[in-house]
Amino acid sequence: MKPGVILLMGLPGAGKGTQAFRLAERFPNFVHFDTGGEIFRRVTDPAFADDPIIQRENKRYFNKVLNTPSWVTEIVSERIRYYSGQGKGLVFSGSPRTPPEAQAVLPLLEDCYGRDRLLVLEVVVSPETATERSRTRLTCNNKLCRYGATLEQRGKPCPECGNPLPQEQQDEEKWKYEGMADGTRIREFEQLTQPAMELLKKRLTHARIDGEKSEDEVFGQILTAVEKNLS
Ligand SMILES: [Zn+2]
Repeated sequence: MKPGVILLMGLPGAGKGTQAFRLAERFPNFVHFDTGGEIFRRVTDPAFADDPIIQRENKRYFNKVLNTPSWVTEIVSERIRYYSGQGKGLVFSGSPRTPPEAQAVLPLLEDCYGRDRLLVLEVVVSPETATERSRTRLTCNNKLCRYGATLEQRGKPCPECGNPLPQEQQDEEKWKYEGMADGTRIREFEQLTQPAMELLKKRLTHARIDGEKSEDEVFGQILTAVEKNLS
């Protein structure tokens, strides 16, 4: 498939990450860009321990405050230029997260790939499903991997990188679940990410994916939408 960009959007727990891994496996010239994972790597990279900006973002991250949109935009833009320069397509799971990020990234994506090579897939799940999934979520400890598994897979080899998955849920995942259960992260999605997605949907081809279905069925729906709109 010719390079392009697939933007998977939806609530935390909608399955964006899992589906993005599968897409990148199916289309080897597409790279999965996980914004959350990239932010985590940067704010915890010891090489930047003295960098005041990284320290500011590290505090925001661990205080569960959304990272500064302009800083996130900078990272995302840099990666878009890099991968499009390499002739690679991109699968985004969790970007853009805010309207300013969408406004900054959209013209760059159009520039690098062309508007008809951009596809928004809205993975729809109920807040209840999203919350329940985040309750059992486990993330691969390999910083370069960060595969999103479930508690059932604890201690088993990571399907993505082969490292053993953690034996118990990390604190970070526990907070994320708490934020889902008390509604904070759902409101954040509705107030920031939803408007960012609406902005993209106005300009780009988009399709709705029923995220309540099984992982395989969701992947089937995604492949149909990709083949129809990007092949
Ligand atoms: Zn892994």
